[in-house]
Amino acid sequence: MATERTLCIIKPDAVEKKTGGAILALLETAGFSVVALEKTHLSKVVAEGFYAVHKDRPFFGELVTFMTRSPVIIAVLERDDAVAKYRGVMGATDPVKADAGTIRKLFGANVGENAVHGSDSLANAKNEIAYFFAANRVAPTA
Ligand code: ATP
Ligand code: MG
Repeated sequence: MATERTLCIIKPDAVEKKTGGAILALLETAGFSVVALEKTHLSKVVAEGFYAVHKDRPFFGELVTFMTRSPVIIAVLERDDAVAKYRGVMGATDPVKADAGTIRKLFGANVGENAVHGSDSLANAKNEIAYFFAANRVAPTA
């Protein structure tokens, strides 16, 4: 399997509960390397741009309000097959439906406040990483 990078956002609910460190530790134990990391407070414009694909969904306003209410931690994760492996470790969007041991089962509250974001394809991972990290802030791939 090829080495890949994917984007993780530890969402406001998880940062507020001070579980950001536990989530990063779980990811490292699961074989991911953190190759870039930032704690920041998303503006409305940045959150709307990031989730633009969902702009016509009924929950869009609620999603933007949630993502901008307090700081997030944004991480670029690297390992073999990172996109699919991280989606597996994250668990289903709704924590109630997520498998035992997944981040969303352990740390998510509900379908909106579900602890983490993860890129859903390699192409989207590249775009999402570039959305938050200038190329000179991420170590070059080996
Ligand atoms: P993410 O993109 O955050 O990794 P995902 O890919 O599992 O999550 P998406 O369908 O892309 O799920 O939805 C993006 C986010 O929008 C969800 O993670 C959640 O925070 C929010 N969301 C999705 N469905 C709902 C819903 N029915 N009600 C409220 N919020 C929702
Ligand atoms: Mg998604």
